[in-house]
Amino acid sequence: MDTNVVAVDTGDDKRKLCVEELGADYFVDFMKDDVVATVKEVTGGGSHGVLLLSPAEKPFQQAVDYTRRWGTVACIALPAGAKGTFPVFDLVLQRLTIRGSIVGNRQDLAKALDFAARGKKGAVVTAHDKPVTIQRISVPTPGPDDVLVKVEYTGVCHTDLHAADGDWPIPTKLPLVGGHEGAGKVVALGSNVKDLKIGDKVGVVWLHSACQTCEYCIQGRETVCPHQHMSGYSVDGSFQEYCVARASHVARIPDNLPLIEAAPILCAGVTVYKGLKETEVRSGQFVTIVGAGGGLGHLAVQYAKAMGMNVVAVDTGDDKRKLCVEELGADYFVDFMKDDVVATVKEVTGGGSHGVLLLSPAEKPFQQAVDYTRRWGTVACIALPAGAKGTFPVFDLVLQRLTIRGSIVGNRQDLAEALDFAARGKVKCHYKTMMLDDLPAVFDDMKAGKIAGRIVLDLSGKRKECS
Ligand SMILES: [Zn+2]
Ligand SMILES: [Zn+2]
Repeated sequence: MDTNVVAVDTGDDKRKLCVEELGADYFVDFMKDDVVATVKEVTGGGSHGVLLLSPAEKPFQQAVDYTRRWGTVACIALPAGAKGTFPVFDLVLQRLTIRGSIVGNRQDLAKALDFAARGKKGAVVTAHDKPVTIQRISVPTPGPDDVLVKVEYTGVCHTDLHAADGDWPIPTKLPLVGGHEGAGKVVALGSNVKDLKIGDKVGVVWLHSACQTCEYCIQGRETVCPHQHMSGYSVDGSFQEYCVARASHVARIPDNLPLIEAAPILCAGVTVYKGLKETEVRSGQFVTIVGAGGGLGHLAVQYAKAMGMNVVAVDTGDDKRKLCVEELGADYFVDFMKDDVVATVKEVTGGGSHGVLLLSPAEKPFQQAVDYTRRWGTVACIALPAGAKGTFPVFDLVLQRLTIRGSIVGNRQDLAEALDFAARGKVKCHYKTMMLDDLPAVFDDMKAGKIAGRIVLDLSGKRKECS
């Protein structure tokens, strides 16, 4: 029924059952917790509805105290001789309802049976030549080192389309649930997980896990670990209501950053932030961002400015120019359809850009970037135009000591830093919210090149609330 559930009972077994197996969002232990206070806290002021199933008297005298204004208490249990009590003042002024409920009519019965036949929603790729379908799937069980995340928002990345189409050189798992920009809350913990708790805001990211022992992992270069697993690629990702993630690798989302705003940072944000670091441009120097007006680009311009860089934005059209210069604060805009990119970048930077970030899925920039890079400068490559080859003049590369390097997402520290920029309001993603059911249409638009900013899918069932 897509409601958020606060389960009240006692003991660790019941907690596990309710949260891990059944997917309750919160568990309140009536022997340990202050039921009224805790329910009010986790629901943000009171529960919209209360269902009394325990054959004890006390809940009948307490339920009204944690019911939200305009809410309803439904009584089902029948403790012998019990009396319910309620504060008349609250009942009236908060327009509360207390009502009994007994079995159901035949229509209710039919609906109840229908529920028993279904699970939770997920977007499943069954074969690479078939479109993704929204299905009812079972809630996955976290292993000892995992957490179960109730996904509230998840961004859609171009990589998700490649995973669905299976057109990358690395095979995906099948059937596959994609998604690696999932922002949600921890609802269950594996037995080894000590540093996260139920209710923590976390992100499901591309790097699901790395081996932690290879030479790259040891050096914090886990993003190139040959034994890594990728969310929404080699393991199921965040295009589902409940997602398993490795506790060591989930993003810790700052408290003051709404989940919906965190989602696009989890891949797009960290990718461009890390890419900017890889250009080795320092505060006060020039970075040229190619594809600056796009989904990755508009984030890159903001990060670069927040990092103190002078930004030359390369893209085309008046809308992109306005976005880059007027909204995002780029210092120069070069229109690659109108301007001579090499000459203009050299001119505005006084001899060449200290760093270049390539975000546009086109081949030409990979063959041109070196020509406007300053001596000792670095070109960082992020975009992946299919089958593209970069070229460079060897003479210039050597005599000007240039560097060309690839950059892929970021490690956990990069991720924490990227999120911190967003939490401090220095970086904000432009996104459009859609529902999980819209994913097949989003993929179609993506293929047609019709998506401008980021698409964030709303799985929260809340629609407007943010965190
Ligand atoms: Zn991505
Ligand atoms: Zn490794």
